[in-house]
Amino acid sequence: MKNKTVRYYSTNYKAPEVSFREALLKGLAPDGGLYMLRDIPEIPVSELGALSGMKYPEVAARILSMFLGDEIGMQELLEICSDAYRFDVPLEAVNGRKYVMRLDQGPTASFKDFAALFMGRMMQYFLKIENQHITILTATSGDTGSAVANAFYDLDNITVIILFPVDEVTEMQRKQMTILKKNIHVFAVDGKFDDCQKLVKKAFTDPSLSVFRLSSANSINIGRLLPQSVYYFYAWSRLAETNDDKVVFSVPSGNFGNLTGGIIAREMGLPVKCFVISTNENNEVPVYFKTGKYRVTSPSVNCISSAMNVGHPSNLARIVALYGGKMDESGKILKSPDLKKMRADFFATSVTDSRTRETIADCYNGSGLLLEPHGAVAWQGLMDYLRLNPEMDTGRQLCVSLETAHPAKFREEIFKILNFMPALPDSLSNLLGKVEEFIYLENDYDKFCHYIRNST
Ligand SMILES: *Cc1c(COP(=O)(O)O)cnc(C)c1O
Repeated sequence: MKNKTVRYYSTNYKAPEVSFREALLKGLAPDGGLYMLRDIPEIPVSELGALSGMKYPEVAARILSMFLGDEIGMQELLEICSDAYRFDVPLEAVNGRKYVMRLDQGPTASFKDFAALFMGRMMQYFLKIENQHITILTATSGDTGSAVANAFYDLDNITVIILFPVDEVTEMQRKQMTILKKNIHVFAVDGKFDDCQKLVKKAFTDPSLSVFRLSSANSINIGRLLPQSVYYFYAWSRLAETNDDKVVFSVPSGNFGNLTGGIIAREMGLPVKCFVISTNENNEVPVYFKTGKYRVTSPSVNCISSAMNVGHPSNLARIVALYGGKMDESGKILKSPDLKKMRADFFATSVTDSRTRETIADCYNGSGLLLEPHGAVAWQGLMDYLRLNPEMDTGRQLCVSLETAHPAKFREEIFKILNFMPALPDSLSNLLGKVEEFIYLENDYDKFCHYIRNST
C-alpha cells in the first residue's frame, strides 16, 4: 500500500480530484459536491484475519492507512489513533449471535467522537507540517459543538469558535463545551440556532476575515466519514468465527454518514451480509427503496431519536454515487443508481416513536438490555429484518446493532419509559462542579467579528 496516492473526487463531478489533505482542509468541493474515494482500496483476505489480534487503535491505523496512502507514515498514524481512541468499544451479547456495539464511550458519549477525534488530529498533523494555523467556526444546537470542542481541545495550530443559542441547549450540552477553555472559545448568542448559523456563514464569506483561514468541522467532511469505517472491521474481527462469517449490521441513520462508513468497509472486503438502514419517522430513504421515488421530508419530523431528525441526508449523494448514480444537493436524482443492487444490499425500515419506546421497554424488561432512542431504532430495525427474512433468524447468523449514544444522555426519556435514571458515565459526571467560561454575544455581526479578530 505504500507509495500510493489516494485520490478523492467530487460527487458533482465538476471539481478536480484532490489528495486526502486537500479534501480534509477544504471540506466541501469547490463545485458544491462531497469528496469521495475514487478507488476504494481492498484489504487482502489474509490481513482480515490478523485484525482480531489488534487493539482498536491498531485496527484504526491499519484501515485508515489505506485511505491516506503515502500522506502519513504508519508510525505517526498509529500515534494519532492511539491518542484519539483511548476508550473501550464494548460488544454486548444479547442473545445467540446478536450483539449491540456501544459506540458511546468517548468524551461526549456519542459515536460522533470517533469521527471528530480523528479529524481534529489529522488537521493538526497537516497544519504543523505547513506551519499554518486555522480557525474552526461552528454553530451548534448542542451535540456537534460538544463533540468538536472535545475533539479539538488543546490541539496546536487550531482555534475553535463555537456559537450556541443561549436558551436552546441543555445544561449538560453547554457544560461539555464551556468547561474546556484553552483553544476552545464559546459564545452564547442572544438568538436562535438559525441566528448562530447566519453569523457563521457571513464570516465564511467575509473578505476582511480571509487572513484568519476559517474552516468548518462540518459533518460532510471526508475526514469525519472515513474513521466511521473502522468500527465495522473491529466488530467483525472480534466476533467472526471464519473469514466467510458474514455479518448483518443495523445502523441508526440520520445523515447516513455512519452507514456510508459501513458501505466503504464492505467495499474494502469486509464480509457483510446486509446493512439494515434503520430510520425514525423521517422515512424518505425507506420510501425511496420501496417506490424508487425520492422525496425529501420537509419539514423534518421531530422524533425522540433527535440526532436522526433529518429530512434529506446529505451523505445520500455519496451512496448514490457508489451505486453509479448522481444526486444533487437538493436531493434531485440526475442519474439513477442501480436500485436493484441497492435493494439486494440493504434492508431499509422506519421505526415510529411509539415502537421506539416499546423497544426500550421490551429490551430492558426482556433481557436487561438498556438502549437509548437511537440504539432502539437500530435494534427494532434488525428485528424487522429478521421477521421478514426468517431464514436469517437461525441463531447462526451474526448480527450487530449499533448504539450511537449513551443512555444517560436521554435520562428524562428513559425515566418516562423505565421509571429509573441511567447512571452517568464518568465523561458526563465529571462535568458537574467544573467552572464554565463563555461570552454572551448580542446577535450582532460586527461584535462577532471583533471577537474573531481577538480570539485567533
Ligand atoms: C448523528 C447521530 C446519528 C445519525 O448518524 P448519521 O451518520 O447522521 O446517520 C445517530 N445517533 C446519534 C446519537 C447521533 O448523534
